[in-house]
Amino acid sequence: MFFLLDSHCDAPIMLAKGADFGHRISIGCQPGQFPVSHVDFPRMKKGGVNGSFFAIYTSNRLTPDEATRRALQLVALVYDTVERNPDKAALTLTPAQARRNAKNGLISIFMGMENGAPIRKDLSLLRMFHRMGVTYMTLTHARSNEICDSCTSPEPRWNGVSPFGREVIAEMNRLGMLIDVSHISDASFWDVLKYSQAPVVATHSCCRALCNHPRNMTDEMIVALAEKGGVIQINFYPSFLDAAYAARASELIDAQEEAQDVWLEDPSDPVRQRRMEEAIAALQAVPRPSYKRIVDHIDHVVKLVGVKHVGIGSDFDGIEVCPDGLDDISRMQKIIIELRKRGYTEYEIRHIAGGNFLRVMEMAQRQAE
Ligand SMILES: [Zn+2]
Repeated sequence: MFFLLDSHCDAPIMLAKGADFGHRISIGCQPGQFPVSHVDFPRMKKGGVNGSFFAIYTSNRLTPDEATRRALQLVALVYDTVERNPDKAALTLTPAQARRNAKNGLISIFMGMENGAPIRKDLSLLRMFHRMGVTYMTLTHARSNEICDSCTSPEPRWNGVSPFGREVIAEMNRLGMLIDVSHISDASFWDVLKYSQAPVVATHSCCRALCNHPRNMTDEMIVALAEKGGVIQINFYPSFLDAAYAARASELIDAQEEAQDVWLEDPSDPVRQRRMEEAIAALQAVPRPSYKRIVDHIDHVVKLVGVKHVGIGSDFDGIEVCPDGLDDISRMQKIIIELRKRGYTEYEIRHIAGGNFLRVMEMAQRQAE
């Protein structure tokens, strides 16, 4: 018996669109339906998933007011969906609660904030989000913010972590909140390792040695993360898993995202809908890497630093394409089966499946004041 944990998914995006996670959500791109949906409670149960971090995600395009309001709305939606399904899921703050929930047949729903923009330049807002149940924070997203630079910023703003970002790191350490280094620039990563007193996590990142993308981590970074006691959780996004796929699909992904944005402005317009369906079909025609590629990335980390510093962070509901054979969270056991096929012992699988992440979380919470 092990705890299967997904350390990052964007399910609250679907909640904001009115999804009810108590039931199986149908997949489709008809008006009123979702272009893509990978997560709900019945499918988590089918996949044997014991816990998941729901991302309180805000775009760097929002104003500070909009970011804070959006984050509060998403927290409320997570509360609502858990409260409506007390027989299926429970809001969870600690690894001990998570293990109890698993014994009681409940899925643990944690919250992680993706992008620190909603706290603005105010540590009291950070403390409030922590009290609301946000247990990790990804310092930024696609652009630099008040805390640090992003790995996809066109220009660095701080050349790493800002002076305010140093205060944020100290306060997160004091609170026992996990620091997530996914999305941040390489210089920011090295600053975080220098300033954080606690081990840190990459909740949804892959290995740059296997797929050269700025969102992925170099071997040097993975070794340093592990030496500090942290963990890298492998992302399922095909463009981060496989460079050949990324080269073939990148323009089609941009076209699909644009067509989707245009369609969402007026989902009843058949012309916009057809354009999006064509863009999706063009993207889907590109052969996707197998889900086994996820296990290749796990293998790579294990070869570098052993089995105690790797796990999985799907990015479901935040990615427009999934690996072949792993189209939603209900197929999650395929990774476990593949690990067994490659000779991993049950002890090792228990660590990769969730034990590693929960250990780091426990350590960060224990080091708190
Ligand atoms: Zn992300």
